Amino acid sequence: LDGRGRLPDWLKTKIPSGNSVTQIKKTLRDLKLSTVCEEARCPNINECWGGNETNTATATIMIMGDTCTRGCRFCSVKTSKTPAPLDPLEPDHVAQALASWGLDYVVITSVDRDDLKSDYGANHVSKVLTTVKQKSPNLLVEVLSPDFQGRLDLIETVLGSAPGTFGPDVFAHNLETVKELQRVARDYRANYEQSLKVLEHAKKFNPKLITKTSLMLGLGETDSQVTSTLKDLKSIGVDIVTFGQYMRPTKRHMKVVEYVHPSKFDYWRDTATDLGFKYVASGPLVRSSYKAAEFFIKDKLL
Ligand code: SF4
Ligand code: SF4
Repeated sequence: LDGRGRLPDWLKTKIPSGNSVTQIKKTLRDLKLSTVCEEARCPNINECWGGNETNTATATIMIMGDTCTRGCRFCSVKTSKTPAPLDPLEPDHVAQALASWGLDYVVITSVDRDDLKSDYGANHVSKVLTTVKQKSPNLLVEVLSPDFQGRLDLIETVLGSAPGTFGPDVFAHNLETVKELQRVARDYRANYEQSLKVLEHAKKFNPKLITKTSLMLGLGETDSQVTSTLKDLKSIGVDIVTFGQYMRPTKRHMKVVEYVHPSKFDYWRDTATDLGFKYVASGPLVRSSYKAAEFFIKDKLL
């Protein structure tokens, strides 16, 4: 923030508007679905949901309810130890909404359900992915997965290990920040090693799968910490990495330590590209799912 409490110019965006945005909002309400785009008050809604000749439309649906059992200090999603039970109609509702929107690419993410002791909701996620693929076979699907407390059998469930189920085209799991800041930023049930294990296992289970992770900058990380993180990610075969500015959702959330300059985001894009990542998105307003469709469809990674 500058001296008068204003954001730097590079973080200002337009208010969402337009037809496809309105249509998507209506279907969401009708089918009781949530998106991260709205829950996290993402600044890119107009651009992502809009989709036009230069921009492929994408959105991020959040499943397993709108309430998470974890309490990460950067995240604006609601928290409770006992969220509502899973909605058995959700797989059909998500598939129906996606079939009606005609998006090119969708990110399906979820809250963490540590309360569901048997599988933390992994079979429900698999059911959503499978129903979506059955209804929209050409839609490219990225799953932004929880860590399932490091249960690798559950990662396989999400990747379509059971007969008759479909996995995603892209498996994403966010590391969020460097090793040294995991404890201050993420819930105590998440950690650096566990997240690396999840990403590593997804690639081993299906070497053709694209794996992806996102890092927030501006939490107080140092350059050498970010560089080591990138090396760790590269060593376990992660294909895609994104960098975005951490924005504090409310005063109850952790403070922004730094508004990282756009030139520094360019630096991280170049550094990650030199390390050999297949695709890197890096910029103050980049979110894990920002312009995901472009990366994969226009650049033909999928
Ligand atoms: Fe937010 Fe953390 Fe829950 Fe993910 S696990 S929805 S980042 S509180
Ligand atoms: Fe939604 Fe991601 Fe786009 Fe934000 S960047 S509007 S969360 S798809």
